[in-house]
Amino acid sequence: MDFTADYTMTIDGAPVAGAGTMAVINPASGEPFATAPAADAAQLDAAVNAARRAFPGWKATPWAERAAMLTAAAKLIFEHTDELARLFVREQGRPLHLAKGEIQGASFWLRQVAKQQIPVEVTEDTPERRIEVHHEPLGVVCAIVPWNFPVLLAAWKIAPALLAGNTMVLKPSPFTPLCSLKIGELLRQVLPPGVLNIVSGGDELGPMMTAHPGFAKISFTGSTATGKRVMEAASRDLKRITLELGGNDAAIILPDVDVDAVAEQIFFGAFYNSAQVCVATKRLYAHEAIYDRLRDRLHALARQAKVGDGLEQGSEFGPIQNAAQFARVTELLESARAEGLAVLDGGAVPDKGYFVPLTIVDNPPESARVVQEEAFGPILPMMRWSDLDEVIARANDSLYGLAGAVWSADVGQAVGIAHRLETGTVWINQNLQNTPFTPLAGHKQSGFGVENGMDGLKEFTQPKAIFIPKGG
Ligand code: NAD
Repeated sequence: MDFTADYTMTIDGAPVAGAGTMAVINPASGEPFATAPAADAAQLDAAVNAARRAFPGWKATPWAERAAMLTAAAKLIFEHTDELARLFVREQGRPLHLAKGEIQGASFWLRQVAKQQIPVEVTEDTPERRIEVHHEPLGVVCAIVPWNFPVLLAAWKIAPALLAGNTMVLKPSPFTPLCSLKIGELLRQVLPPGVLNIVSGGDELGPMMTAHPGFAKISFTGSTATGKRVMEAASRDLKRITLELGGNDAAIILPDVDVDAVAEQIFFGAFYNSAQVCVATKRLYAHEAIYDRLRDRLHALARQAKVGDGLEQGSEFGPIQNAAQFARVTELLESARAEGLAVLDGGAVPDKGYFVPLTIVDNPPESARVVQEEAFGPILPMMRWSDLDEVIARANDSLYGLAGAVWSADVGQAVGIAHRLETGTVWINQNLQNTPFTPLAGHKQSGFGVENGMDGLKEFTQPKAIFIPKGG
């Protein structure tokens, strides 16, 4: 693949150059390496109109045929794993083997979601009448995706929305548009024109989309601050919304864990993708009996970790994805140092690009910014606890409620703790797991609505109750 090649948007099944262009930067070097199209308002209109025109035909297409086209899309993406993954590393930064995992994860999602069906629910069936609840597609979905998992999170929207009979205009992040544009190009081969339109652009394109009257629903993944703006924009014409937002996830480590056995998993749960994961462990609460040993193990892992260009053999962790995020993360680290917190430095990192060492902050107070804020970068605050009720209260004392984890040799006790955490997901003795059939739903300011699972699929539909009389 020629990485400097022309990238085109997909509108009405056809390649479209942008009214403008924008540079795409490789975060491992900080240098631009490709140019992406930037849509203007007229091109957005064209995409929405194409999706609106395609909607009646797509809605009328039998469910099984739509599912078959999504399965064909999954196959195409899988077949292009290598070239997409190489492009992915250049624009997103993650090491190549993990980039392949994301491309194949997106393919897996399309294939698995395509197996789902929404059953007709019968809420009453008496001699007098039968009441059936059907689920109809909404219309054109506006899908807005962030830069941390640009391909997988796009698939999380494309698969259920299209399966349910909606059409879509999808916008990748301006920082990571290229893989989505390439996938749009590939899927022109299997989807009817207008069903999936992909437009890219700068900061002005997202607000133009959420304000556009042609959309029936907005499916948004990104920060809580932007999520609030999306919700406000959607309120003007009561567009349906699903918001998957930020998190500040707590992991609670009980004193009975085998520190040597679990340290590495806890480490990856915090630092995978250089901690640019919505559901990463972002506050680590370790019981005082094992605190020092776990801290020392994690610190040793952080010092040994190979942080580098994702295309270099052996890299385990890539850069921060973009300059603005890099500035936020480094500022948070400097503020932790300025506050006098015990900052345990990670290992060496390259001196160009947006690299940050994997860093642990040793037992900061709850009030420290590094505990209160979502770093979205490799700075892990680790805190001591001794009283279970108190640590659960500390874990729950957050504006966020995306996910959490409990680590214990006593799974029964861990389940009890899981029930007390105010989050949409809790992992026990594992981390970062999601399945196409399991709802991901942020509690509190981590989201609104549900992605994935049957509940997520139904969010792309309108329930319709039909009252059918019997006996004349
Ligand atoms: P962001 O909110 O800055 O941007 C997300 C997307 O929204 C981008 O495509 C951006 O161009 C677009 N956008 C920006 N302003 C907009 C506006 N006013 N109206 C409409 N669209 C707009 O988020 P980000 O920095 O790309 O992503 C990081 C955040 O995403 C983190 O907070 C992370 O926790 C969260 N996230 C959540 C999940 C989840 O499933 N809950 C998954 C991944 C990331």
